[in-house]
Amino acid sequence: MTASAEKFTRQTLLHVQPLTPSLFTLRTTRDVGFRFVAGQFVRLGVTKADGSVVWRAYSLVSSPHDEFLEFFSIVVPGGEFTSELSRLREGDELLVERQATGYLTLNRFVDGRDLWMLSTGTGVAPFLSILQDFEVWEKFERIILVYSAREGRELAYRELIDGLADRDYLAEYAGKLQFIATVTREEVPGALHGRITQLIESGALEEAAGVNLTPEHSRVMICGNPQMIDDTRQMLKQRDMQLSLTRRPGAVAVENYW
Ligand code: FAD
Repeated sequence: MTASAEKFTRQTLLHVQPLTPSLFTLRTTRDVGFRFVAGQFVRLGVTKADGSVVWRAYSLVSSPHDEFLEFFSIVVPGGEFTSELSRLREGDELLVERQATGYLTLNRFVDGRDLWMLSTGTGVAPFLSILQDFEVWEKFERIILVYSAREGRELAYRELIDGLADRDYLAEYAGKLQFIATVTREEVPGALHGRITQLIESGALEEAAGVNLTPEHSRVMICGNPQMIDDTRQMLKQRDMQLSLTRRPGAVAVENYW
């Protein structure tokens, strides 16, 4: 098969940044023909020592207008893919499927005033892409990014999040974003303490945001741990907030990572 007929392209790692023993970011070159919508994911492939290729889905952190691709990864102990991925260094090759996909995108919602983005761990990735793109800032009056991690040091991309307001193209919208970090296993200054579901149940999340979750005004994207997503969906359902489908627009969009 010729390279152009393959379903993937071969990209080069430009930068690998370990954050904690179990988290790292990686940046690669980008094929000129690669297109995606902020919030989507793509399958990445690594070649093992025996020549076989392992594939896994990864959300894009970088924005559609960046010249590079960026990803944020967990290291699963003994995980088939991440054991290989975490060994790669600058100059190594990463396979990237040509077709990005996924429905955690803004076109899921036909209306809404406040966009809530609820994430656990690496599930913050698609929201970073969405926030770096222009559309979300025009579409919503308020944007509430909620990022949950076990420990304070696992809260990645703080600089990127804090720096959004300084980007020329976003300056006039900067006041729209509210960032709420929450840490489950320790108390961290400036962050809430507890799981997202607990914070919704107790009302602490809405209190921190200064706005309520309502079917009229709120549109909610949820990404990361499937248990958190299921539990949160149930809570939102009780508030009459349903999953948004193509045939029936609603208030909720989700992406399960496993
Ligand atoms: P696997 O055998 O795939 O997973 C083993 C176990 O590890 C899982 O059962 C689960 O308990 C745990 N696990 C897997 N992924 C995670 C995770 N991200 N955080 C915490 N625990 C996890 N992973 C990322 O790190 N970053 C991403 O941006 C990302 N985007 C994804 C997008 C989609 C649509 C999907 C379906 C998955 C995504 N994942 C992401 C998960 C990723 O595809 C792999 O599961 C992950 O790389 C682990 O692969 P593995 O072979 O090492 O372990």
